[in-house]
Amino acid sequence: MPRRILLGQSLIAATCVAGVSLFATPGAYLTAGLLGLSAAVAVAVPTILAVRASSDAIRRLTFRVDQLAAGEFSGKVYVGVGGELRALAQSVNALSEATAGRLDQLERDRRRLAGILSGLVEGVVALDAEDRIVFANARAGSLLEFPPDRAVGRKFWEVVRQRTVDELVRDASMAQEPRRADIDWQSASPRSLAVYAAPLAGDATGMIVVIHDMTDLRRLEKLRQEFVANVSHELKTPLAVIKASAETLIDGAVEDVAYRRKFLDQIAEQSDRLHALILDLLALARIEGNAVPAEPAAVSVDEHVGAAVERHRIRAEAKQIELYQIAGPAVTAWAEEEAVEVMLDNLIDNAIKYTPEKGRITVKWGDQAGCTWLEVSDSGVGIPEADLPRIFERFYRVDKARSRELGGTGLGLAIVKHLAQTNGGSVSARSAVGKGSTFTIKLPAMPPGR
Ligand code: ADP
Repeated sequence: MPRRILLGQSLIAATCVAGVSLFATPGAYLTAGLLGLSAAVAVAVPTILAVRASSDAIRRLTFRVDQLAAGEFSGKVYVGVGGELRALAQSVNALSEATAGRLDQLERDRRRLAGILSGLVEGVVALDAEDRIVFANARAGSLLEFPPDRAVGRKFWEVVRQRTVDELVRDASMAQEPRRADIDWQSASPRSLAVYAAPLAGDATGMIVVIHDMTDLRRLEKLRQEFVANVSHELKTPLAVIKASAETLIDGAVEDVAYRRKFLDQIAEQSDRLHALILDLLALARIEGNAVPAEPAAVSVDEHVGAAVERHRIRAEAKQIELYQIAGPAVTAWAEEEAVEVMLDNLIDNAIKYTPEKGRITVKWGDQAGCTWLEVSDSGVGIPEADLPRIFERFYRVDKARSRELGGTGLGLAIVKHLAQTNGGSVSARSAVGKGSTFTIKLPAMPPGR
């Protein structure tokens, strides 16, 4: 284009010079005028075309830049001209490509972060400087009972209507320091929550609220406290009797032959009780410490039932109780041998304890759907329906006095339950008061995976 403009300018100059010096007649003036006009046209047309192409390129560039400003990064701008406008179009295209790439990366990072936060077991809520929810993961929604997808943009206190939590967030926001509170969440499913609220670090303004569900931990703590209280109580009673008997003997009863015997018997009896209790506690601690059986093997059920029945025969005969086994198929259980012995001993021992004289106890076994079962039934006192779900708890007894009198520790069934579970099985009970009880142990017949 610049070359064409130069050519046009030279033509005009030549025409003027020629017009002035050579043509002085009217005809000559006309000729000169026509010549000048054609020269002017020859110059103007390319110029108009060039200007039009440039303004078209500028229009396209403006349109593309407006698109970029509106967030439309896909697409390119092409201009039908060269030079600086083409270079500008290339720069705009490069800019939009780079911005689109960066935005893509940001979106991928945002999704990854959202994925990580939604996978957390903790609830996480992010608030802006006006306490509006910017982000809340699904766990926060389930713990604080609000729909996280519909909470974004709303004020935290509008969404979470529990005073203690709102106060904690407000407090941390005003102090610009982290705050923590343990909260008993009152709702249809009450929970123990630990809630942390902390101002965002760095240049960001706003808060982060993290919620931990402590319900299981608190329940375990409570169970542990109850267990310690129960153990102390169980140890205290026999120790008190032993202490009182020994003191009475020291104070002079030792000289009296009739009294001496009575107090010594009491000491022996209570020491036996303490001994049994400590053995059961140690057994329970050992079993609870093992998540899996140490040495499982194919245990022959009929052999073990036969041996267990023989071990208890004398005690059963002392109460004139009929104790026998009903022979079942020759099955094996995949379990620890000692565990099978302890479970059978505890169940037969209970059956003898809680069956009045001249009663009957039977032990049966069999297999069903890959599982070996063992059943100990008695014609004893039975267990009320209300107590049945709790008898496998540690120290739970239907009749405390009777259990103690019979030398019970309150731990026998808890030991059976833990042993059955550790060996991949279960134990259950059914009973009718005054008619008798049946305890069923189920164990895997084969190693897992076979
Ligand atoms: P304990 O040492 O008191 O027998 P267990 O844990 O073995 O403790 O049993 C818990 C409670 O379950 C017993 O105190 C008793 O009330 C009840 N129980 C267990 N076995 C029987 C049974 N065969 N017949 C009736 N009650 C039973």
